[in-house]
Amino acid sequence: MSEKELCQICHHRIAEHKFVRVIDGVSKSYRVCSHCKALMDNKYAELRREAARRAVPVEMRKCPVCGMTLRDFTETGLLGCANCYKVFDDYLLEYIRGYHGATTHCGMDASVPAPVDVETLYRELKDAADAQDFETAAKLKKEIEKRWGTANE
Ligand SMILES: [Zn+2]
Ligand SMILES: [Zn+2]
Repeated sequence: MSEKELCQICHHRIAEHKFVRVIDGVSKSYRVCSHCKALMDNKYAELRREAARRAVPVEMRKCPVCGMTLRDFTETGLLGCANCYKVFDDYLLEYIRGYHGATTHCGMDASVPAPVDVETLYRELKDAADAQDFETAAKLKKEIEKRWGTANE
């Protein structure tokens, strides 16, 4: 690196690392400081853990808080609790996407806190994760957790 450049994430520390990500065939280079790089590495590990969790077939998962299974959801169209969003997030995304353009938005229980907001956040989180935009993904994840509380982990 020729000039002393600031980290593109915190815009505060001197960037010491450079890396390239290829997103949709376009390579983008990033310059980040050690601190932010460590955060990103953590975030990446976290995303990988999530991916590992998703490797469990959705039909075999059960919400540890309320005990809801996918079958309960497909039968009733209702989620048992806020934690269900975490357990079935990938399935719900597909489910929500399937409802795009449909006349009725969704049949989720109105007692589940702010479902629409969380749906939007989740879509954005997924997009950010797909784009490997860890900064945005981390922010969205925090937002979602704030709304739901950290039920259990
Ligand atoms: Zn930084
Ligand atoms: Zn639940």
